[in-house]
Amino acid sequence: MTSGRHFFVATINRDRLATLLRAEQELYIERHPGSLALYRQAGHLFGGVPMTWMSAWSGGFPLYLDHAHAARIVDVDGHTFVDFALGDTGAMAGHSPKATIAAVQHRIGDLGGITTMLPTADAEWVGAELTRRFGLPLWSFTLSATDANRWAIRLARLVTGRPKILVFNYCYHGSVDEAFAIGRPDGTTVSREGNVAPPTPLDVTTRAVEFNDLAAVERALAHGDVAAILTEPALTNIGIVLPDPGFLEALRALATKYGALLMIDETHTISVGPGGATEAWGLEPDIFIIGKAIGGGIPSGAYGLSQEVADRISAMAGPGGADIIDVGGVGGTLAGNAMSVAAMRATLEHVLTDASWPAMIELATLFTDDVAAVIAEHDLPWSVTQLGARAEYRFTSPAPRTGSESHAGNDEELEEFLHLFCANRGVLITPFHNMALMCPETTRHDVDRHTAVFSEAVRTLVS
Ligand code: PMP
Repeated sequence: MTSGRHFFVATINRDRLATLLRAEQELYIERHPGSLALYRQAGHLFGGVPMTWMSAWSGGFPLYLDHAHAARIVDVDGHTFVDFALGDTGAMAGHSPKATIAAVQHRIGDLGGITTMLPTADAEWVGAELTRRFGLPLWSFTLSATDANRWAIRLARLVTGRPKILVFNYCYHGSVDEAFAIGRPDGTTVSREGNVAPPTPLDVTTRAVEFNDLAAVERALAHGDVAAILTEPALTNIGIVLPDPGFLEALRALATKYGALLMIDETHTISVGPGGATEAWGLEPDIFIIGKAIGGGIPSGAYGLSQEVADRISAMAGPGGADIIDVGGVGGTLAGNAMSVAAMRATLEHVLTDASWPAMIELATLFTDDVAAVIAEHDLPWSVTQLGARAEYRFTSPAPRTGSESHAGNDEELEEFLHLFCANRGVLITPFHNMALMCPETTRHDVDRHTAVFSEAVRTLVS
């Protein structure tokens, strides 16, 4: 918590909330017998789900997917949902976008070849397009944003010869060991609560400070052991925490002053525009990371390098130096495969085009204004924050400025109630916190549907 700021956590009637939550849990079970049966049958899945985080869906079991197109998901019980979760950005292009499907079918069906160890001509097209959007001249492909971060961190350590990565409290960059750190006010760095068996104490690999705290960033960099600052332009994985005016420019200047690289992860913040916040806000990263949306849902990711960083890597690689070709720790067998690259090309060329953002942003603005109006109507100490085509509400007011402030506003019970209330009435927001994302096929009617349901949920809660 930042001193001197008033910081409220929602004060609602907890007994009433508990009663309402139980009713929504019962309704969820009643409405989804097919999903519940499949979940109960899943005896060979660790945690009962194909990936352990899928149990994070509210209600005790996840909905089972039957089919999904555009901004709609249909579950095995035949319920249709307006989907604002959009695969937590993996489906920001909408579910199964036609152009992506056609390109993938052509690539792997008509032509043949999913993973061959050979490049395809699509790769240079994608590299050039990423350069047009984000500015960095040279690209390598991955199958996830996590891998892009991991490999880029290795390269940052290689070129700087320094051990540590500077991250912000409550950031998330995928399952990247260095990033699960919390910086304490005394300047020490510890493992984040719940971090699964870190391979090494976090203070060996990481310095962590609060987002928007430039003095703390400078103190951390002054040790001279930071290879790179790794950050999203706005935090998006602890609610949305926007940068203060001038924060990102100052971060760039501090990185340069202390010889650290600036790594910008735009996996989520591509919501800001076709070139992410990097283009929209004029950022100048040394290394750029992206994943999820750019493949239209097909596993894809990339990291971009400035010419200077690329030259420094090249000078240190090769015989007797760093092995960036074989088993040196940078690379994955299926990375850059023909299917993934075809999906990225089609998605960037035909689906998530420059022209698609204004309408998505307009809908996110409508979503934000509507949620803000409901919050104001009931005088709730909550806030809602927009970041281009995404928006998120938090149970704190004013909107948090740091990850720790935002974290302090977590309210699991309230969150579960709102998620279930929405799901039981045909609206999905992300299972983690309260995020809504627009895709090119989201409509005003979809946003109105959320507004109606959200407003009814809040009225029920406070009446
Ligand atoms: N970077 C950011 C900013 C993310 O939000 C995430 C996932 N939420 C990742 C990286 C990792 O993406 P993936 O799990 O697809 O590897």
